[in-house]
Parts: sequence; C-alpha cells; structure tokens
Amino acid sequence: MKMSTEIANAMTGNTPAITFAEGTCHIIPAFGNMGVLESDEGLLIFDTPIRQMAPGAFRKLREITDKPVKYIIYSHGHIDHAYGFGPIIQEAEEKGWEMPKVIAHENCVERFKKYRMLDKYHEWLNQQQFSSLTKGKGKIFPAHEELEPNIVIKGKEVYKFKFGDYDCEIYHDWGETDDALWLWIPEKKVIFAGDLMVSHFPNVGNPYKVQRYPKHWALAMEKMLKKNADYLLPGHGLLIEGQKKVKEVLSITAEALNFVHDEVVKRMNEGKWFEQIFHELLEIFPEHLKKHENLRPLYGCFEFAIHAVYREYHGWYNTGNPTDLFPAKSQDVSKEFLKVANEEKFLEQAKKNLEEGKLQLALHLIDVIIKGTDPENYELLLEAYSLKSTILKKLSDEQTSFIASNIISNGATVLKPLIRELKKKVRK
Ligand SMILES: [Zn+2]
Repeated sequence: MKMSTEIANAMTGNTPAITFAEGTCHIIPAFGNMGVLESDEGLLIFDTPIRQMAPGAFRKLREITDKPVKYIIYSHGHIDHAYGFGPIIQEAEEKGWEMPKVIAHENCVERFKKYRMLDKYHEWLNQQQFSSLTKGKGKIFPAHEELEPNIVIKGKEVYKFKFGDYDCEIYHDWGETDDALWLWIPEKKVIFAGDLMVSHFPNVGNPYKVQRYPKHWALAMEKMLKKNADYLLPGHGLLIEGQKKVKEVLSITAEALNFVHDEVVKRMNEGKWFEQIFHELLEIFPEHLKKHENLRPLYGCFEFAIHAVYREYHGWYNTGNPTDLFPAKSQDVSKEFLKVANEEKFLEQAKKNLEEGKLQLALHLIDVIIKGTDPENYELLLEAYSLKSTILKKLSDEQTSFIASNIISNGATVLKPLIRELKKKVRK
C-alpha cells in the first residue's frame, strides 16, 4: 500500500501535537485527531482517540496544559473518535474534579445500542478493515463499553453554548455517518470537522459498513464553506490552515461528492444498471478531481462512492439479469463450467491473463477451479491457490485505498494455511 509518510504518520498518531489559533486550540494526532479548545473554564475535547492510543494522546495533552477537561464532544460514534475517554475520566476521578459533560447526537446513542447488539460482528469486521494495523491480533478495537453522552443533540438542532470567552456552535449533518457533529468557534474562525473532512477522498461507501450519504455530505461542506473559517481540523490528517486553503478543500470535496451523486442519479434515471453505471463513472471521473491532493484515495475511494450513491437509492437486485435473482450456488456453477472445459484449460487461460496484466480476469478464472474442482485434486488446487495468492498480493500493492488494500491482502492471508496444508498433501 502506498501512502505518503506525512499522512500515514498523522493517521497513526506519529506526529507532534500542534497549537494554533493564537494558542487557544490544539490537535493531538492519534490515528484520528483529538481537537482541544482551551479557555479560562478548562478544556473542551473534540473526539477522543482509539482506545489503544488514548494513554499516549492524554500524555501529550498533559504536556501542553493541566486544565481540567470540561466537555467531551463526539464528532460521531466510531471507534476512533468516541472510545478513548478512559484517561480523562480516570484523572477526573483521582483529582475529585467534576465529570466532563459529554455531547453527542441522538443517532450516536442509537449507534452505541447497535454496536452492543452486533458486538461480535463488529469486532470481526474491524479486524478485517484494519488488518494492516492489527496484524490479526485479537480484539484491538472494542466497540462497546462506551461513555454515554449526557447532552444529546436532537435532529437538526444547532447547539450553542458559551465556553469561557468563546461561543461554541455545534451542527449536525449526515456524511460518513448519520450522527455527525461539527464544531464552529466564531471568535477563532475554527471548525472541528470530525470525519466530515479527512484530508483525502471521503470515506463514503465503505464495503463493510452501512449506508453513507454522499449528497448530504456535499451539503455539509457547503454549510462549512459559509463560515469562512481560517482553520479546519479534519478527523484524520493534517490541520488545514488559511481561509483560501480551507475554502479550496471544502469546495473540491463538495464537487467530488456532487459529481458522483449526480452522475449516478442521472444514469439511474436513464434506466441503467449498476455495472454499466460503475464503468461509465470510472471513465468520466475528471482529471482535476482524480489528481487533487485532498481527494487522494488513501482510505476510501471513488469506486466505493459510486456504490454508496447507487445503494442509497436502489434495492439489492442490481444487475437487471433475472439469472441473478435466485442464483445457483457458485460451486455448482463452477462444476458445470469445468464440464465444458477442464481445469487445465482454465489454469492456462488464467496464467495468460496474468502475463498480459489482466489480473481481475485471471482471478475470475482461478475461482472456477477453486470452487468447482474435486477437493482432493491437491496438486491443481495448490497451483490455483498459489496463483491466486500471487495475484492478490500484486493487486493489494497497487491499491492506495487502505480499506481496499486490506480487503485484498486479507484474501491472500486466508490462503496461507490452505497452501501449507496442500503442500504437505502433495509431498506425501
Ligand atoms: Zn475516523
């Protein structure tokens, strides 16, 4: 996976804390950014880090200031924003301070309920999505044991309060999630954006996760634009500074989201099905969006966004081909293919595709062998699995999107023990 060191460092928290807006605000990077507003009253924390990185982030905070934490705001309820509260709460208990007020949107409370219901599933899928960080080691991102908010923002309500000398305005929008909050501090012209801004292509259309909202996301960008902010703190990545740069980043993000939304919708109205829409969109994705430094596909990507729009407005029957309405098992279909042409033919053609750089086509052919051949056909299966593993590693290396790269390399990882077993069997 290729990712600029600068962004990778910011994403993993491997950069120093930064103070900005005349010393009133700080960022403490820890995979996601912890934003801090300092006033005479104490500290307001916008997002807490992933639990595993919370102690380190908290130490960095205490190197800057020893003021008590008065507010914690969750930009949304994801594991990298709302679960690193431990050290803050522990400190308040030890020092006998008043507990910080916790602010979140009502949909965040619903999210926490969902996480409890789907605890095991989320544990599994987060291991998949973050596999290059967790290296497959256990339960690294627990998405339960949350700190419930005690100030719950309802619907589109704008929540305003005074914190020391500063007015704070909290807005709710949909984007990556339906529980997103962002903070505007007018006196300092600062926006704390959460994951509505991630400094690269918006994570809209994550293959593992529930529906996300491209059009609403664009509208959130347009709302932020009206503030003429001097500083924009993204949920991940580096601080965006200067009115011109803030405007540029918000505008280009809105443009990309509007583009994918409107082009997919247009084609749906033309009666096109997903495959056609997807490939047409890839062809017309404008160069200036493709090349913009703030739209790099480092986490999510344009391809995922196409899915997001289609899925928001469409049912699961997405090919227009009745064969796909109640399809046979793919194993049975593959067995039938192998009756028409044997495994050797498929393997030969797969290798030819690989040589010609048609990796995806090679994968489809290899899958016919893997699914359709006799499970005791050890030598052939060994060759098919090994070839698939080589192709997946190649594809994963070519991917810049963290999520896509992890999905593909996980595919190679699960083949490892199968290949080991087959080698043993072949040797016998
Ligand atoms: Zn995040």
